[in-house]
Amino acid sequence: MKLYISRPLPEPVLEAARASFDVTVRESNAPLTHDEMVAALTGHDIVLPTLGDQFRQPVFAAVPAPRARLLANFGVGYNHIDVAAAKAAGLAVTNTPGAVTDATADIALTLMLMSARRAGEGERMLRAGRWEGWHPTQMLGLHVSGKTLGIVGMGRIGQAIARRAMHGFGMTVRYFTRTPKALPELPGAVPVADLHSLMGSCDMVVIAVPASPETHHLIDRAALAAMQPHAHLINIARGDIVDEAALVEALQEGRIAGAGLDVYEFEPRVPEALIAMENVVLLPHLGTAALEVRTQMGLMAVDNARAFAEGHPLPNPV
Ligand code: NAP
Repeated sequence: MKLYISRPLPEPVLEAARASFDVTVRESNAPLTHDEMVAALTGHDIVLPTLGDQFRQPVFAAVPAPRARLLANFGVGYNHIDVAAAKAAGLAVTNTPGAVTDATADIALTLMLMSARRAGEGERMLRAGRWEGWHPTQMLGLHVSGKTLGIVGMGRIGQAIARRAMHGFGMTVRYFTRTPKALPELPGAVPVADLHSLMGSCDMVVIAVPASPETHHLIDRAALAAMQPHAHLINIARGDIVDEAALVEALQEGRIAGAGLDVYEFEPRVPEALIAMENVVLLPHLGTAALEVRTQMGLMAVDNARAFAEGHPLPNPV
């Protein structure tokens, strides 16, 4: 079977793919164009796309009878794929859950600590030669240990963040999620049914829901307005879950203390207003950026492709 891979991937992933498939690896790191997506669906049995490859209705409409029957997505988030349109065109879709969980939770904690303790601001000051030495009231941030963390979306990553926060930093965890959860590993984590109550009762709020029509701008002006002035907002999920313009306003007006972001509404565009603010930590979508994690993600995507080729049930259908 012919497998099309839309980006260069770690070598062990390509080796595993080549052991089972006739593989085409696209050498560019840019998202696929419309024409490239059409060609991929027309000329291959399986396509392995990733973040940024916009497999939406117009692409499927342009290929009424695709040769491809599977989109084996590299990544747990698949909001760049219109799954209903893919299925209507006869394609199954899979993703790579689990492989990304710990690394993404680690980036959430990185952002929490950096934002609360003003790490980016401090490093910029030092590198600019503006550090005049330690003094007792210099760059005082928010003490994280023992504070209350609000988690929006208590799935795999949300729970991994909660474990780190509770067991590592003695934080109290409150969470907002769609389906009630039994969380034996997280005794004391408190479900909060109302999003605004959660936002208003926490020192830090982390966003860990998937992007979907339902969660688009879930964190809007009103949700941000519910936050306390000393609180920080962290987003490791997807950019469009937060109304970025409203976030800029809340930060500029000092209605929240800071933000730590790994994802952006119009990625890779980051508003100048965010870049200009010292109390905002900006990472370039590093959630899963560790070699062994990206390798694991790729091997999972190849496993899905292999299961499809061999007629077995797909391990990770969406
Ligand atoms: P997951 O296990 O599916 O967890 C998502 C949680 O969000 C589930 O508990 C889900 O509830 C809940 N949820 C969904 N819609 C909701 C809504 N409207 N209101 C409240 N809660 C809602 O997914 P995951 O593995 O934790 O990943 C979460 C997201 O993180 C991914 O979709 C991806 O976009 C993002 N991510 C980002 C990076 C990065 O590099 N920054 C890396 C990996 C993942 P149910 O139980 O009802 O489904």
